[in-house]
Amino acid sequence: MRFSRMHLPTLKEVPAEAEVLSHRLMLRAGMIRRLAAGIYSYLPFGLMALRNVEAIVRQEMNLAGAQEVLLPAVQPAELWQESERWDFYGKELLRFKDRHQRDFCFGPTHEEVITDLVRNEVRSYRQLPLNLYQVQTKFRDEIRPRFGLMRGREFIMKDAYSFDVDDVAATLSYQAMHEAYSHIFSRCGLNFRAVEADSGAIGGNFSHEFVVLAESGEDAIASCTKCDYAANVEKAQSKFVPESVIESEVELPVSDAVATPDCESIEDVAAFFKVSPNATIKSMVFESDLGFCMVVVPGDREVNELKVKAILGANWLEIPPSARVADDLGLPVGYLGPLEVSIPVLVDRMVPHMGPMICGANRNGYHLHRVCWGRDFTCETVADLVLARAGELCPRCDGSLQIDRGIEVGHIFKLGTKYSEKLNATFLDHDGQEKHMVMGCYGIGVGRTVAAAIEQNHDENGISFPYAIAPFKVALLNLDLKSAEVTAFCEKLYQEFLRRNISILYDDRNERPGVKFKDADLLGMPVRLTLGRRGFKQGIIEAKLRNSTESKEFPLDNLDSLWSLFDELETNDSRISLK
Ligand code: ATP
Ligand code: MG
Repeated sequence: MRFSRMHLPTLKEVPAEAEVLSHRLMLRAGMIRRLAAGIYSYLPFGLMALRNVEAIVRQEMNLAGAQEVLLPAVQPAELWQESERWDFYGKELLRFKDRHQRDFCFGPTHEEVITDLVRNEVRSYRQLPLNLYQVQTKFRDEIRPRFGLMRGREFIMKDAYSFDVDDVAATLSYQAMHEAYSHIFSRCGLNFRAVEADSGAIGGNFSHEFVVLAESGEDAIASCTKCDYAANVEKAQSKFVPESVIESEVELPVSDAVATPDCESIEDVAAFFKVSPNATIKSMVFESDLGFCMVVVPGDREVNELKVKAILGANWLEIPPSARVADDLGLPVGYLGPLEVSIPVLVDRMVPHMGPMICGANRNGYHLHRVCWGRDFTCETVADLVLARAGELCPRCDGSLQIDRGIEVGHIFKLGTKYSEKLNATFLDHDGQEKHMVMGCYGIGVGRTVAAAIEQNHDENGISFPYAIAPFKVALLNLDLKSAEVTAFCEKLYQEFLRRNISILYDDRNERPGVKFKDADLLGMPVRLTLGRRGFKQGIIEAKLRNSTESKEFPLDNLDSLWSLFDELETNDSRISLK
């Protein structure tokens, strides 16, 4: 492509709307433009990157035996009522009515539609296994759309669904997808981890996330420094080895309520009593479909809501507004404690091993100290209820956990028979028995993958695309447009790149060299070739890799080694040097 002909509106200024680097760079590099919150247009340069990711995704999905379909984006409410997700999915589901007042939604995911399709087509075990996928626009009315394509409301997803005769076969399908995903993200040139994950609103019983490591990521992942255990922090377990209890004050009874005005946070309370936060306990009221409960954890730890939800066996769990806790339970948020409360109490496994502790007195503005587990309070449910922390012991070996931040780009689930039972998707097995199909589902955020790639591959000057997904593999900078010889050579070289099918951006604009260098750095082509009058006289063209500072000169009369460089890049991505 000639830069002079391309709609590639690069921006010098950093747009105010953008919070993370990839978002800023995607706007500056003329890849996307915002239409409304979380809704973007893809400009040519952006779309090329997306299409490159999609091509890799399609190749690997096809290799894994999946077949491409394209399902409707608009879905009738009846299907979602059948799966019982019409009410459960909540406000992220964009609902609307057609002219006949029938309810529809814009698909945020396609379990219902695909299960409906397959239940009507597949009758026999002979037609299984089946894995169908699509690359399609989804809509989720995210509460906080942000970071550009990273968390949009309208976004492109590759979603796949597998159908199998039994759990063993479904596990094989799951493993095939796990492998395909690993190939996909490796081929995209990303540094990622596959981690155990929660299955969230999609449901099911087993799941992994593919997380691209990046400081700015919204997800935190825990991984063992010794073995291959890795899990989303939401899900991560750790081994707990209790330390001995400090029993100095244990003989003394619990104190009277101590007035602690304006001490609503753990920090305030710890400062007031001149202790460290881990001598206090944090008591929080949660509400779920099963009612209210109180969760008690050490003061310096965070409650893991997913663990609480799992222990309760609840469908949903949230922190109710303080006013509701006061009105319905007569409890003052900010001054809560587990003594003499009428709702079920769940205690983290560390609490029984704490010495005398400080907690709220369930009275506005008051706390208790010298509170002892077993003596002053106890409860039936003692479990691991906190978020795992760096340095804790690995649940599998004697290594310890480290925490990294990352971006979830893919998510695979073993669904079991959740949807096939609800929608009655059955087949006749070889023994003549009618059985429910065993399903899996597998998603990749295409736009988010591009954003994550940029988040992981950039410097202060701009993007540094991994070779495989770079919209153009090479930028050819003509520094002397007025020189007929230079321009003639550049034209010839440009044609040769086109002939060799190596995607090239030829900067033939009537701009100063400085502008061309800046744009090439911003746009992040893996290879930059520059030719000016001086180089032409010396008979050399200069090549530089975007992700390194070294450059190399190639003789104009023999470019064989330049073509070898591209052959190597094609196979080894950008992790090679110019030597
Ligand atoms: P998240 O936890 O980030 O909200 P999710 O668990 O809801 O994501 P899935 O239902 O697993 O997402 O969707 C599959 C993939 O689709 C995700 O791994 C992600 O790459 C992508 N994706 C999900 N939501 C968005 C979004 N709002 N914007 C862009 N991509 C998204
Ligand atoms: Mg997910």
